[in-house]
Amino acid sequence: MKTALLLSGGMDSNAVAWWAEPDMAYTVNYGQLAAQAEIEASTAICARLRIPHEVLTIDARPFGSGDMAGMQADERAPATDWWPYRNQLLITLVAMRAMAINVKCLLIGTVASDVAHKDGTAKFVTNISRLLSHQEGGMLVKAPAIEMTTAQLIKASGIPRAALLWSHSCHKADVPCGQCRGCNKYFDVLKELGFYVDTAR
Ligand SMILES: [Zn+2]
Repeated sequence: MKTALLLSGGMDSNAVAWWAEPDMAYTVNYGQLAAQAEIEASTAICARLRIPHEVLTIDARPFGSGDMAGMQADERAPATDWWPYRNQLLITLVAMRAMAINVKCLLIGTVASDVAHKDGTAKFVTNISRLLSHQEGGMLVKAPAIEMTTAQLIKASGIPRAALLWSHSCHKADVPCGQCRGCNKYFDVLKELGFYVDTAR
């Protein structure tokens, strides 16, 4: 079965790339502030794994919200990095492109902690997979690490430390701000893995 990965260049999807070795990877520049760094991180991991990689570009920033769009979070946002219908948008765009090369399974890098957002839950994955597979193309969506923590995924994937450190997790900028939810997660995971000790925090 031909597989493709929605790759953001963050720790989770980079580890899934290493673990699952998909036939193709797609990164979406949808107008997020850290797009360039995410593209560079994704390109590096795909080059290392020899996975064909394509960047899809669409400007959805006017429809965004919160940290990743450089805007005040919507009043319904469960967290500062919430962007309405974001994963739905990204999965749909990648599926539109991946259908042309007959991809049958689209992988996403959702992990257990993503449950803070509705589009990071198992129910969301089940529902969007059902929706895509119901339509022409019959594509499934799978989140192979959805029951794992990021640290568990990284260990299971076997991704080497050097490659893991190519990941870009900051939600606010191409150069890590050190303060957003993405940066905090990045440092917390490195500490959990024993890769990083910050004496300042
Ligand atoms: Zn940051």
